[in-house]
Amino acid sequence: MLQDLTYGRLENEFRHEAPRPDDIVVCILENKILVQKGADNSLTMPRVQQVQQWAASENWERWQENALQYSFRIHGVNYFLWMGNGGSCPDASYAYEPARAFRYYESKEQCYACMTAWHLYSWYRSSRFCGRCGSKTVHDAKERMMRCPQCGNLIFPRISPAVIVAVTDGDRLLMSKYARPGYTNYALLAGYTEIGETVEQTVHREVMEEVGLRVKNLRYYKSQPWGIDGNVLMGFYCDLDGEDTIRLDETELALAQWHYRHALPIQDDGISLTREMIRTFGEGKEPKHPA
Ligand SMILES: [Zn+2]
Repeated sequence: MLQDLTYGRLENEFRHEAPRPDDIVVCILENKILVQKGADNSLTMPRVQQVQQWAASENWERWQENALQYSFRIHGVNYFLWMGNGGSCPDASYAYEPARAFRYYESKEQCYACMTAWHLYSWYRSSRFCGRCGSKTVHDAKERMMRCPQCGNLIFPRISPAVIVAVTDGDRLLMSKYARPGYTNYALLAGYTEIGETVEQTVHREVMEEVGLRVKNLRYYKSQPWGIDGNVLMGFYCDLDGEDTIRLDETELALAQWHYRHALPIQDDGISLTREMIRTFGEGKEPKHPA
């Protein structure tokens, strides 16, 4: 999975770090991130010294205090967010690319960094004002939290829990395709945890809503941060309980089908929890319910 590359090498606690010339800057414009694409299908993000030069040029926003927000460190390299709106880049070798397309490039670590930076940027941008009283917020001195100086409201980073569900029936796995545009390949069932329910209840509810099936014997597998959607995904295997007739929710899914273990239609791409769970089932290595 994507995050495995940086396992133990991501330092994501909040720090007061001053930008250094060689630190990386993630510049975001709408749903795109500024990158330089290499001939080898790699991605490179600009360094602080480059962005400082651009800020002195015509097209880019002016440099200002707090223009750069420290976000995290990977393999000892600091990543900052450019907190402006971005601008047309004076260096023509750089272009804004859709963040969702980053998974298809070779630079998997950069992809993970971008998704994580994206998640943080989205939260910072939507937390500039207090949702309770409307005052301008300030960053807390010690932790990653926005604070309202007027009413005392504390705003913590928002992470939405969601489940990925592999419904199995012996040697069969239930696979689906989403109805919404975007990712069009096979997937597993997925859904957000609602207020007031456990993650296990999310599994039961989502499976019933999307395909009309009952399940039992839930087995937790692994989790994955998925910053592009602000999620933490939790993967479960479970067994079909009773009838196997699918009643499709066509607003959510384009199709749902049973596929046999030896003939699964997609491969692991080393990126997503979904794909790893499909491969693991194909290899017969999924967590088993104790007999
Ligand atoms: Zn307030």
